Amino acid sequence: MQHHLPQHYFSRLWRAIIEFDLIQENDKILVGLSGGKDSLFLTYALSIIRRHSPRPFEVAAITLDPMFTADFDTAPLAGFCAGLGVAFHATRANIAAAIENNNGKDPCFVCSYFRRAVINHFAVDHGFNKIAYAHHHDDAVETFLMGLLYTGQLKTFLPKTHLDRTGLTVIRPLVYFREKELRITPRLHGFTPLPSPCPLDGKTKRQEAKDMIREWGQTNKHVFSHLAAAMRESPATELWPAPLSRPSMKEKHHEFWRKK
Ligand code: SF4
Repeated sequence: MQHHLPQHYFSRLWRAIIEFDLIQENDKILVGLSGGKDSLFLTYALSIIRRHSPRPFEVAAITLDPMFTADFDTAPLAGFCAGLGVAFHATRANIAAAIENNNGKDPCFVCSYFRRAVINHFAVDHGFNKIAYAHHHDDAVETFLMGLLYTGQLKTFLPKTHLDRTGLTVIRPLVYFREKELRITPRLHGFTPLPSPCPLDGKTKRQEAKDMIREWGQTNKHVFSHLAAAMRESPATELWPAPLSRPSMKEKHHEFWRKK
């Protein structure tokens, strides 16, 4: 396998790593490797970056079989990691059953919750201090739009999150990559991404958000970049104040109607 990254890919990685302080000396980083194009590229990129980084760090990968199918085979991913000199781990969890018994909750919410729990547990047990996920810029913008449309909240995931309960830090070194740039990355490492075993693939709220952004982009080519700008903290942000609590509102009423 060739170990090569074009210069503009290096630039995007270093930009995220340096701007958001993603890597410290002697980090032990566990990559969530699903076998999709994004996590394959992240594993590949970190295996190269570690040879150039002035801060030495270790990389390993973990693949979780969510038991959507009976024949999920991790052997090709083990081979991919061996070619990169990256330690590979595999684990299983019955996410499929958790989604079935979800009491009406969004299946993707249930799935992500359990995946994160299993991977965090593994990381703590095996002495990793960081977990790297392959979320990219389009994911961040879609999550931002989903938060706004489906929960009324202006929020998205962060490039770096410290998890107080476990002491782990989650990092997302691909946040400056557009999805279309990642689509061509299998050409770099030569490994064909595995098809998603998830029966909901392409039928999710995320897909709806992705379709909306694409559709709006046909009449306004700045839609994506404006959404991306809106998810950054900015002095230009002007939002209504948070709603007052009942007691505070009552007090304001009293104050307003009090005779002078
Ligand atoms: S699409 Fe499938 S694999 Fe992805 S989060 Fe949703 S349930 Fe999980």
